Amino acid sequence: MGKNNTIVPLVDLLRQETCPACGHHVAVPFIDPSLQPLATVAWPRSLNEAKSMHRLPLDFVRCVECEHVFNAAFDYSRVPYTRKPNRMFNKGIVWAENIKSVRKEMLDQLPKNPIVVEIGHGDGNFLMGLAKDCPEGEYIGFDPHGARTADIPCVQFHSCLFEPALHLPELNPDLIISRHVLEHLTNPLGFIQSLSFSAACIGVKPELYIEVPCIDQAIETGRTVDFYYEHNSQFTTQSFKKMLERCGVKIKRINHIYGGEVICAFVRLGRCQSHVRIAKSAFLFLDRIRKSENTIVEQLNALHKSGKSVAIWGGTGKSAAFINRYQADAERFPVVVDSDMTKVGTFVPGTGQEIRFRDWLTEHPAEVIIIPPQWRAKDIMEEMKQHGIRADTVFIEHEGCLTDYASEAHPY
Ligand SMILES: [Zn+2]
Repeated sequence: MGKNNTIVPLVDLLRQETCPACGHHVAVPFIDPSLQPLATVAWPRSLNEAKSMHRLPLDFVRCVECEHVFNAAFDYSRVPYTRKPNRMFNKGIVWAENIKSVRKEMLDQLPKNPIVVEIGHGDGNFLMGLAKDCPEGEYIGFDPHGARTADIPCVQFHSCLFEPALHLPELNPDLIISRHVLEHLTNPLGFIQSLSFSAACIGVKPELYIEVPCIDQAIETGRTVDFYYEHNSQFTTQSFKKMLERCGVKIKRINHIYGGEVICAFVRLGRCQSHVRIAKSAFLFLDRIRKSENTIVEQLNALHKSGKSVAIWGGTGKSAAFINRYQADAERFPVVVDSDMTKVGTFVPGTGQEIRFRDWLTEHPAEVIIIPPQWRAKDIMEEMKQHGIRADTVFIEHEGCLTDYASEAHPY
């Protein structure tokens, strides 16, 4: 018997779920699943309406890598966000003091006429407060369900989502703010990584301020009211840190406000140059493939026009990929052979040539043979010799074109 270090049977413990904060794939049960109505976005107007509300699945699990707690049954499309922003306790005195000091900290490190973006501006009060304190700046809010008009000229609200790849280059902000947004997203890690990658790609280093609820105290004290449908992602100090560490950002400061119930961070974006290098190299590959695709399609066209008889060796796997990618259709290239008897009599996926046994070529020699799986070319040449199969030319695909196996340079 193997030993089990956990207090419950392992089968009741292991859940393969992807952590929204750190991307780890193993989690464990945290609260027994239940069905609950939405807690913040629907405002029932009658007893009946309240009692008959649709219930959504809560299945909170905990990531074993970073401690994050999340609803594994969450589906963003089931939250009907409307223009009734969830009014947080914005007017409380402690809260107001906290907000004031966060704004001050922001302005202290910004230039005199900053460009500030807020992702999910809600009622717009935070951004407008900043604008009042520093009217020389430009303030742009993005929120599909947020306030639409501002009475301050330097503030604009857009009723759409902030798209890093589009809006970051367009606006080039000094500061991006995201307050009480990430806990609603399906993939907060992916969102910050996209911001970080976009900044690195365009060579800018904006500051990012993030603020989310923190459940450290809820866990310590066994509190459960925090765990409702709209907050699918529940950060602990540890999971918040881990998420940021996975985003290629420079963490300048992480701290708690509002008596430990909220965690916030200032980070610097635009640092992950290694990601930019990989993106460049992927694009070079893509560009090269696009060019070679045309080259090989042209070579096949020319081969067909020349009237030479052509056979393709191999009709599945890499050969099928070759035939489909380069449009070697069954009308122009009907002859496909294979060394493997078990494939004989089947058809090439997509284009439909019937696959014949290689010996067909002893009776019906082809002037040109194309061998799509380069790594097998040497073996196939040997096989041809043994079975008396001849061809004037054998082509393999190498560096973006059909290459003469016998006379041109290649590593196969
Ligand atoms: Zn995690």
